[in-house]
Amino acid sequence: MATAQGHMGMRMTRQRRVILEELRRVCTHPTADEVYRRVRRRLARISLATVYRNLETLADRGLIGRLEPAGGPRRYDADTTDHYHVRCSRCGRVGDVFAGRLPALETAFRKATEYAIMGYRLELIGLCPRCRRRPAGVTAKAKGGRQAPKGPRGVHGR
Ligand SMILES: [Zn+2]
Ligand SMILES: [Zn+2]
Repeated sequence: MATAQGHMGMRMTRQRRVILEELRRVCTHPTADEVYRRVRRRLARISLATVYRNLETLADRGLIGRLEPAGGPRRYDADTTDHYHVRCSRCGRVGDVFAGRLPALETAFRKATEYAIMGYRLELIGLCPRCRRRPAGVTAKAKGGRQAPKGPRGVHGR
């Protein structure tokens, strides 16, 4: 029931408010599915599709952030301030990086293209503290096919 659509402004329905509250409670950049699991505890009858639709509306209106990590599903962020994200290449966890704006980077991009650059998305890739503590050998067992992320090439992990 998309009754909220076509409305001017955005109606803060109870569902939407609960979704926003639950998102604000975590700093893990949850997926729609993870938000759904939290919201369902309070609104037993809500569906995943409804949660997803509301998250998208909130993101469209700039009330929450939307992340599209290279290797995984879309995630949401209650923190809309300017910050970057780092994704753990081993477990997929996404953390915040508050490094301020990087004007040097923007200048470099502007010089390199005739497009008018309005901004950029930057996703850092690394190992989270938990994975760093794990001995490197633990994941080395992964069956062939994938080359071990050795040397600087691993940084491009796809
Ligand atoms: Zn990790
Ligand atoms: Zn964030």
